[in-house]
Parts: sequence; C-alpha cells; structure tokens
Amino acid sequence: MSYQAEYIWIDGTEPSPLMRSKTKVLADGKEPGIWGFDGSSTNQATGESSDCVLNPVFTCPDPLRGGDNKLVMCEVLLPDMTPHPTNTRATCVEAATTYAEFAPMFGMEQEYTFLQDARPLGWPLNGYPAPQGPYYCGVGGDKMPGREIVEKHTAACIEAGLGIEGTNAEVMMGQWEFQIGILDPVTMGDQLWVARWLLFRIAEDFGVWATLEPKPILGDWNGAGCHTNFSTAAMRGEGGWDAIVAGCEALGKNIDEHIANYGVGIKDRLTGAHETARWDRFSYGVSNRAASVRIPWQVAKDKMGYLEDRRPNANCDPYVVTRLITDTICSSATA
Ligand code: ADP
Ligand code: MN
Ligand code: MN
Ligand code: MN
Repeated sequence: MSYQAEYIWIDGTEPSPLMRSKTKVLADGKEPGIWGFDGSSTNQATGESSDCVLNPVFTCPDPLRGGDNKLVMCEVLLPDMTPHPTNTRATCVEAATTYAEFAPMFGMEQEYTFLQDARPLGWPLNGYPAPQGPYYCGVGGDKMPGREIVEKHTAACIEAGLGIEGTNAEVMMGQWEFQIGILDPVTMGDQLWVARWLLFRIAEDFGVWATLEPKPILGDWNGAGCHTNFSTAAMRGEGGWDAIVAGCEALGKNIDEHIANYGVGIKDRLTGAHETARWDRFSYGVSNRAASVRIPWQVAKDKMGYLEDRRPNANCDPYVVTRLITDTICSSATA
C-alpha cells in the first residue's frame, strides 16, 4: 500500500513568512526524498527560474491521516543544493555545531490567537468581551472558546512524537499557549514549526484561523509572545548560577540585534505593559515578569537551571531565535 507524505516548508512572504505544504504519495517502504516546488508562487523565486528544492530534515508520523502517513518538515535549497536565502535553519545548524560542547537546550512557549470572522474566537460581533482577568487558565462555557481545538492539537503533537510539554489558556480571551522542549537549537526549530503547522491545519477543520500575530488587538489586551527558555550544560549543573547571570549579561550587550530578529511588530508588543518590558530597556531579574529576561524562582533557589528570554514575539522564527541566543551567550562564555 502506498502512503502519503506531507512535505512542509517555510515560504518567502514578507514581512512574516507563511507555512506551505503539499502531498507526495510514496510506495510502501520508500523514504521521503528530496522534492521541488514552484518558488515563484511562494515569494522564493522568479518565474523564469522558479525551481526550489525541498530537502527533508525532520520526519514524524502524521497524526491527522494516521496509519503509515508522515509529516516531512523540509528546508528550502536552491537548485545547486546550497541554502535558499529564506533558509534560516542552515545558520542555526552552524551555531549548534560551533557551540555543541556547551550543549545548549531550549524550551519555547508558543502563544497564539484563534480568529473567526476577523475577530478573536468567541468575541462579540460588536465591542469587547468582559475585560481580562478570568481567561488565563480559566474554565467555564462562554469564557474559553477554542478548547476543543487545543485538545485536538495537543493529542496530535503527542501522537507525532513532538516534545510538547503542556498547554494553557492565556490572558486574552481566545488566546492560548503550548510549550515544546527541552530540545537542542535545531530540533527546537524543526518541532515548533511542525507543531505550528498542525495547529493551523487542525483549526482549519473548525473554520477557525490560528494566528501568530503578536498584537492582534490594540488597547488593554495582552499580546502574543514566544518566551524562549535557554540553558547550557554549565547552567544546568551544580553551581550553574554564575553561568546564568553571565548569560543574562551577554544578552544585555546585544539588545538591538535580538530585538530586530525576534519577530515583526515587536515594538507594538514590548510596550512595558501587559507583562512585558519595553523593547529598548533591557533588564533581568528573578521571578520578574516585567523584565526582558526572567530567572524563575526555582532556578534562583536551586542556584542552577535556565533563563527565560521573554522578548520573542509569537511570530518569531525559532531557528533565528535559538541561533541568536546560542551565538550571543556561548560566544561570551567558556564551556
Ligand atoms: P512559564 O509560563 O511560567 O514561563 P512554562 O511552564 O510555560 O513556564 O514554560 C517553561 C519552559 O521552560 C518549558 O518550555 C520548558 O521546556 C523550559 N525549560 C525548563 N527547564 C529548562 C532548561 N533546563 N533549559 C531550557 N529550557 C527549560
Ligand atoms: Mn508559559
Ligand atoms: Mn504565556
Ligand atoms: Mn513564560
């Protein structure tokens, strides 16, 4: 029997790329190999020279089709098999290789918002729902629109074998979060992109659009981020505290580059309100959700563990974020 392999990739749409996928039917037992697509339809090539290459980098069971079907996350290459300019994974691999002896590890908290009829799911046709307060980790009928999609998505991630760790409803009505980790820089990117694709695809079946828009509703409503938790072997080990503080200090010396690469629209989200620190004022602190970088209280107590960079937007590219954090922190440390 043949099976279906869903080839997934990231396109070249500006300012934020879109996810694309298409299906290849393969003979039983045949592994998914390289494939191609029309880059002139994805903002990745011109019509005269339109061929782009899909190179499989991460394959897992397809929890939606079930059976022997597969999801195939791909990187995009040029026809000469070098990385396409939109391929952010290749440089992530370089950083992970350069700093392998630090054993950098990540956990990312993906926030997102369900939309329907151009407004957050469950919001009234006119005006606003009751103000923020009851929605974060809330329960009860009219308050928690989208839960059935969240349940399907979580089960799908588990079935696909992704490192999903948990989910929660967020502060704004219609906004949710899932966490994935603890993974190396490259696998973090591969798995978060596949988990995003599953979210978009499952929401489709409910007539709902899941968006990574960082500030879907202006005003007194929380934005959507992608808190990025990071550790090296030194941070995780006995006496890791000094390495954690050094990591925070290193991030504080490279503010602009990080802000510029943490997702389009970041200045609209990092306003200093709604559990954020202003994008142009770097700070770190224990338990502080108003700081750019937070050291969780348990970490401060144990004197080892990890740090949380709270700045990345929901629409960040995890390959870029893990590459940058690895580069910035590991280049200033000794393994
Ligand atoms: P909160 O909402 O309080 O910030 P979450 O439970 O949503 O916390 O997320 C915690 C994240 O921290 C998870 O993604 C987890 O993978 C990550 N994490 C825990 N320990 C480590 C570690 N040693 N290195 C990197 N990430 C870690
Ligand atoms: Mn969280
Ligand atoms: Mn959150
Ligand atoms: Mn967090």
